[in-house]
Amino acid sequence: MAIFSHPSYDNHEKVLFVTDEASGLKAIVAVHDTTMGPAVGGCRMWPYASDEEAVNDVLRLSRGMTYKNALAGLEFGGGKSVIIGDPRSDKSEALFRAFGRAIDALGGLYYSAEDVGITTSDIMIAHQETPYMMGLEGKSGDPSPYTALGTFLGIKAAIKYQRGIDDLRGIKVAVQGLGHVGYYLCEHLHRAGAELIVCDLNQQQLERAQQHLGATVVDLDEIYSQDVDVYAPCALGATINDQTIPQLQATIVAGCANNQLAEARHGEILRDKGILYAPDYVINAGGIINVSFEKDYNADAAEAKVRKIYQTLLDIFAKAEQSGKTTAVVADEMARAIIAANK
Ligand code: NAD
Repeated sequence: MAIFSHPSYDNHEKVLFVTDEASGLKAIVAVHDTTMGPAVGGCRMWPYASDEEAVNDVLRLSRGMTYKNALAGLEFGGGKSVIIGDPRSDKSEALFRAFGRAIDALGGLYYSAEDVGITTSDIMIAHQETPYMMGLEGKSGDPSPYTALGTFLGIKAAIKYQRGIDDLRGIKVAVQGLGHVGYYLCEHLHRAGAELIVCDLNQQQLERAQQHLGATVVDLDEIYSQDVDVYAPCALGATINDQTIPQLQATIVAGCANNQLAEARHGEILRDKGILYAPDYVINAGGIINVSFEKDYNADAAEAKVRKIYQTLLDIFAKAEQSGKTTAVVADEMARAIIAANK
């Protein structure tokens, strides 16, 4: 498969393929850009169907972290790692220790943390082999509540920009995915008086949301066509695509999932339909912002910085409207300008 000409290769500084026969570890570590500081981005464990799929995912996510970290005002570059395997059956202490040794060998060029399929306890095992781990127990910990706060504020910014109101009472939000972030997001929205329409594969989470947050549950494929103000993707990537866009009733797409647009052109289709899109890596930066306070952890300072996502999004929305560009393109341009100014 092509690597240097891969669409997401984008001059990655380093891509490391790791195997450890004894533990069965197969991982890829991608360091995209360290202009702003050491590369920081989580590790994802997933049973990828092919090596190509894993390479594609790690390169795309790693490049996204460069932009996310720069726009969030962090002194971090962008990187990401993936472990090829099933998080339900392939985890072991030996595997995460081998992963930790691989990260250690990079000498601080890249710091890892948790992402899909990885827990804080996995990170703590890897940390026994290397100091280059973030999101540690007893320090910044679980990033999800901060990602949820940032996403909630992003939804408020979008409502403010589009409708001119600060009040979410009566605003209907379709939340796809009630996981670590999605459920906390629903709690914020419920407290603010929004109406929730939700879906998930996990029946227990659905019942919890029905019981405690008065949420209406719909089938997985019905979430797109709900008569709502906001569609909040909080599960998978690429849910904004040729099949789903025609179904959307929402005039705002604002959720925490990574890589929401299946292709860049889907951002243009949203713009042409008058749907305001909060770029994924801007609205979901709360978790990494919290992690950035790891060394000398201060929850208040972390929260204050997460709250800046609101204004960053308002700026992006205004610049997109003035220039006619998509919000996603404007966010990329703003991130690139920050990086260029630091070269
Ligand atoms: P999670 O694994 O805890 O939750 C995902 C939820 O989505 C699960 O409850 C799962 O059952 C559900 N789900 C899976 N497929 C679904 C489908 N087809 N329809 C509806 N629901 C489905 O993950 P998370 O940590 O909450 O992260 C959610 C998303 O946000 C991911 O895309 C992740 O990359 C992104 N993100 C998370 C963080 C964070 O701090 N955790 C930070 C930035 C971005």
